[in-house]
Amino acid sequence: MIKEFLKEHGDYRDDRSFKDLTTIKMGGEIAHYVEPYNIDDLKQIIGFLKRYHVPFKTIGNGSNLICGSSRYEGVVISLKHFDNYEFDNDICYVEAGVMVPYLVQVMLKNGLKDLEFASGIPGTVGGLIYMNAGAYKKEMSDIVKEVIVLKDDEIVKMTNEELKFKYRYSIFQEHPRWLIIAAYLKLEKGDMEETKAIILDRANRRKQSQPIEMPSAGSCFRNPENDFAWKLIDGIGYRGKKINDIEVSTKHSNFIINTANGTGEDYLKLALDIQEKVYKKYNIKLIMEVEKFNC
Ligand SMILES: Cc1cc2nc3c(=O)[nH]c(=O)nc-3n(C[C@H](O)[C@H](O)[C@H](O)COP(=O)(O)OP(=O)(O)OC[C@H]3O[C@@H](n4cnc5c(N)ncnc54)[C@H](O)[C@@H]3O)c2cc1C
Repeated sequence: MIKEFLKEHGDYRDDRSFKDLTTIKMGGEIAHYVEPYNIDDLKQIIGFLKRYHVPFKTIGNGSNLICGSSRYEGVVISLKHFDNYEFDNDICYVEAGVMVPYLVQVMLKNGLKDLEFASGIPGTVGGLIYMNAGAYKKEMSDIVKEVIVLKDDEIVKMTNEELKFKYRYSIFQEHPRWLIIAAYLKLEKGDMEETKAIILDRANRRKQSQPIEMPSAGSCFRNPENDFAWKLIDGIGYRGKKINDIEVSTKHSNFIINTANGTGEDYLKLALDIQEKVYKKYNIKLIMEVEKFNC
């Protein structure tokens, strides 16, 4: 019954796995996967899943997710079809499924700046707002004006203040059933050549300092106040430390990479080991920045 319903309201698959859908390339099979065609279909789907108590998970580009190996018996919802955007002077309306590195290119063409901090973050607008993702001392909260949300079966607008942004935090993390549909971003007019040069410089810096050629979910841990997670991990001698195919990158020790057939279980084992060793040596509790799911 679920399958038939989902097929009516979106592009449906029953052969997907988290391995296909995450940047770290691991995780179990998924019972149902759907890309709703539009907002009405999305509303219908969410209503149906709630009515029948079917678990569901929204996914963006899967670049912050560590998933377990067991099969997920729920529905994974992707907002890939929510891919429109529009510029009105310095305000950008953008839907949740748009990939941010792509949006940065469009921003440039429109003579705007302020999103360049996110040009190397391989996620969607929805995922970056959920995480209040950031880099180079800027984060999404600096540019989000309002967000359109499917909240308790209603479409509402939420202002920046209502989203309670903090370091790598937004209110959505407490309400996993609310869906980010679109956002209004406030950008500024900028010099295209200057902004391009900043983006290029940062891309080069990332290439030199991060293992972007290997499957990962970005930084494993948040940076503790006035410190860097990578320094603490280096301090316990864990650069290059391995559990099966999961490895602390030798290029950047806050990146844990999948060298071949890694699993979420091994990833979490290694992360827990790091947390314990860092706590013992420095009395600092490292908090995971990646999100574990279905494990
Ligand atoms: C190489 C690499 C570099 C990275 N660099 C950075 C960096 O510099 N800074 C940084 O902050 N992060 C970085 N990350 C981590 C990651 O890209 C960010 O956390 C990003 O915000 C995740 O976006 P996503 O679309 O992939 O979300 P996903 O990983 O798919 O999902 C993350 C969470 O958001 C929720 N979500 C996604 N879309 C929606 C929606 N529409 N409505 C409601 N909830 C939603 C999901 O349910 C999930 O809980 C990096 C990752 C990689 C692999």
